[in-house]
This record gives sequence, C-alpha cells and structure tokens, in this order.
Amino acid sequence: MKFQSYWHDTTTPAYDGARPGPVGGHYDVAVVGGGFTGLAAARQLAMAGSRVVVLEAEKVGWGASGRNGGHLNNGLAHSFLAAKSELGIERAVALYRAHDDSIDAIEAIIAEEGIDCSFRRAGKLKLASKPQHFDAIARNFEAIHREVDRDTALLTAVDLKREVGSPFHGAMLSKKSAMMHMGRYVVGLAGAAARHGAAIFEKAAVTAHKNSGGRHTLTTERGIVTADHVLVATGAYTPPMFSYFRRRIITVGSFLIATRPLTPAEIAATMPGNRTCVTSMNIGNYFRLAPDDRLIFGGRARFSATSDQRSDAKSGDVLRASLLQIFPQLAGVEIDYCWGGLVDMTQDRYPRAGYVDGVWYAMGYSGHGAQLSTHLGVIIADAILGREDRNPLKGLAWPAIPGHFGKPWFLPLVGLYYKTLDRLQ
Ligand SMILES: Cc1cc2nc3c(=O)[nH]c(=O)nc-3n(C[C@H](O)[C@H](O)[C@H](O)COP(=O)(O)OP(=O)(O)OC[C@H]3O[C@@H](n4cnc5c(N)ncnc54)[C@H](O)[C@@H]3O)c2cc1C
Repeated sequence: MKFQSYWHDTTTPAYDGARPGPVGGHYDVAVVGGGFTGLAAARQLAMAGSRVVVLEAEKVGWGASGRNGGHLNNGLAHSFLAAKSELGIERAVALYRAHDDSIDAIEAIIAEEGIDCSFRRAGKLKLASKPQHFDAIARNFEAIHREVDRDTALLTAVDLKREVGSPFHGAMLSKKSAMMHMGRYVVGLAGAAARHGAAIFEKAAVTAHKNSGGRHTLTTERGIVTADHVLVATGAYTPPMFSYFRRRIITVGSFLIATRPLTPAEIAATMPGNRTCVTSMNIGNYFRLAPDDRLIFGGRARFSATSDQRSDAKSGDVLRASLLQIFPQLAGVEIDYCWGGLVDMTQDRYPRAGYVDGVWYAMGYSGHGAQLSTHLGVIIADAILGREDRNPLKGLAWPAIPGHFGKPWFLPLVGLYYKTLDRLQ
C-alpha cells in the first residue's frame, strides 16, 4: 500500500513549470499558497495583465487541493433550511448559487485551457444512513427544489438500488455535481497561470510578512519579494504569521483510502450509478470511483489535527472497516492507497473571503471547497483588480474562536459530541 495521495501519484507528468533560481522583485500581487484558490486567482490576475507571483511552500497542489476526495458537489455542505435560518434567505441562495457557479467556472477553465482531468457531471447522492435521516433529507430537498435548484431529485430506497449496492434508506440527487482528477486539474491550472504570465515558485515558503503602509514585503526561504497586494491562500496550512486566520480556522485531518481498480462486476455490485456519494452521518463517509475504477473512500475517521503516515494509517484502518460495513461485497479487495490532509474548518462551517488587516483571503471551506476555491480565487482576483464585487460572503461576520490560537485542543471533545449525536439521531 502506498501512503501517498492517489491524485499526486497518478498526476504524470507532475508540474514542471516552477521558476528556478532566487525569488525576488516587485509584483502587483503576491499570492501565498499554490492550491486551487491561489492558482485560480493568479491565472485571473495574470490574464488581466497584473504582475503576479505565487509563493508555494512545497509543490503546487501539495495541500488539500491534491489530497481531497475528488467531489465537486454543488449545493451547500449544510442543510439549505439551516443556511436560510442562519444566514437569511438572500445569502443562503447566493451561497448555494456560488457552488453551482464554481462548477461552471471549473468546467469553463478546463475547456479554455485544454486541461485533461476526466471532468464529468456525475451527479451527487446524499445518502440516508438511517430511516429517520431520509425525512430530514426529504424536507431539505423540498426547499431546495422549490427555491433554488430544479436539477435535484428525491430517490427512495427502491430507486437507489440502481445507484448504490448498499441498503441506504433513500437519497437526494444533485444533478449538477461533478467529479474530476484533482491532481491533473491543479497541475493544469498552474500551467495555465504560468502561460498567462504568473511567476510560480515552489519550495518557497513565506517565513515573514511585513506591511508598511500598503507595501508588502514577503520573505521566503529563497529570497524576498515586495508587492502592492497579498492574497493569503493557505487554507488549513496557514502559518502562524497570519494570526488573524489562525484564530478563526480549525485544522482537522480528513483521510482517504483507495482500493485496487474494481472489476466491472464489482462496480455493478457497488457503484453502478457512478456518482459522488456522501452519507448523512455527522461523522460520515464520502466515496466515488476514480478514473481508473478504484473506489476512493474517505471520512473524518478520527478527530485528529495531524496527517502523517502514522495518523493516516490509523485512520485508514477505521476507513477500511467503514467501507466494509457499507460494501461487505468488497471484503477481499486490496487497498492500494492511504492518505490524509488538513481541512480548514470554520466554527459555523461557512467559508470566508474578503480583505482584512491589509491582506486579501479566501479560505474556511470546511471540507467542501474543491469547487468553491477556484471560484472564490477568481472573485477575489477580480476584487483586487477593482472589478464588480461578486463575493457571496462579503460582510459575513467572522469572530475569533475564544481560547483558540491555532492548535485545536478541543478536537477530541468535538469528536465525542458528534459521535454521541450520531448514536442518538
Ligand atoms: C482529505 C481531504 C478531502 C477533501 N475532500 C473534498 C471533496 O471531496 N470535495 C470538496 O469540495 N472539498 C474537499 N476537500 C476540501 C478541498 O480540497 C479544499 O477546500 C481546497 O482544496 C482548498 O484549496 P486551497 O487552495 O484554499 O488550499 P490548499 O490546497 O490547502 O493550498 C494551500 C497551500 O498553501 C501552501 N502554504 C502553506 N503555508 C505556506 C507558506 N508559509 N508559504 C507558501 N505556501 C504556503 C501549502 O503548501 C498549500 O499547498 C477535502 C480536503 C481534504 C484535506
């Protein structure tokens, strides 16, 4: 078994367009972080003629963008009903539509830049793990279908038989949702940004940031750049120097395993619908088929803020047990990959984007940002360029989490809370 992201391992060739030599010079915009957010912003800025530099600590796509489950799901991670009561109808609808727009934006970039990443409008199933969960899914579906998304359907347990080979209790289908090869997309996005003129530096971790009256100085391991604007696009990997965000982002590990490629008979017995699937438990699972027919199966597994080989392996064991609970028919199937990454949760699980303390930012996707990160990157780039403000999160309050300074000491308690909820609900 490889302890490596399936996306990283199967992205060939890897990105090879990073600039060699020392980091230096003055730019209109310096982007910190080379994931979807940073690269989409860099491409947009470069296309508008801005001088833009991307400073990435490791490799492009090294963070969550190259480690996720590969679901481009439309709709909110929350129930739409909850979002309406928490955000108000106007913002809830705007945020819902932003997820639709995000998938459209990715589809358009893939077409414009000729990125070969197996993008497919697969549709997403939100699966009821318990009979009573179906009632909640049905109520949510009715509101969504009536108010914001006609491309949805409610499936009964009987309908589901042609979709998933496991006895779930019904599901909501979101037809606009998609899937793609995340590694090939992120490398394609980096290539596109560079072709439009962005300077991309890898192994260039920003170690210090100073803002003197609007002129930013960023020190990296390979040299110093200055810039008129800074976009912090570091998500769950945000370093301590950006303390405003560290007080508001909770980093949580999320983990995945991937089986060997399944045979046509195994696919027919497990995932005949070939969609992205998410279960309704609080500590739930998400799964899909890879372009080469592996089952990619993920979940929070353990409430840990660490993702390294030891932590990933422990979580991999938990995930394998969950996989076999859902699909006992895969009992003899080998697991070829096990990996993890960090998710940038906010307290209310809504993302945030805008301008604060002299820097631009988009983060807090709370495990649901594979689609939104491209779109918010573009939206923030447009805001930097002084174009129309399309930020669906503008003005959404973002208080610091009391007692939180970057290390989420309270995660075990949160884990216990959700485990108890899952037992009771
Ligand atoms: C295991 C896992 C599964 C997920 N599954 C899904 C899914 O199926 N669907 C979905 O919608 N979302 C999913 N997500 C979330 C989604 O992947 C993220 O929301 C999205 O990729 C965020 O992109 P980003 O560019 O903001 O951050 P990232 O991709 O994390 O990029 C941040 C970058 O900043 C760099 N960096 C950090 N510090 C510095 C520094 N000091 N200097 C320079 N660079 C720095 C890091 O190296 C990193 O490359 C998942 C996330 C994880 C971890």
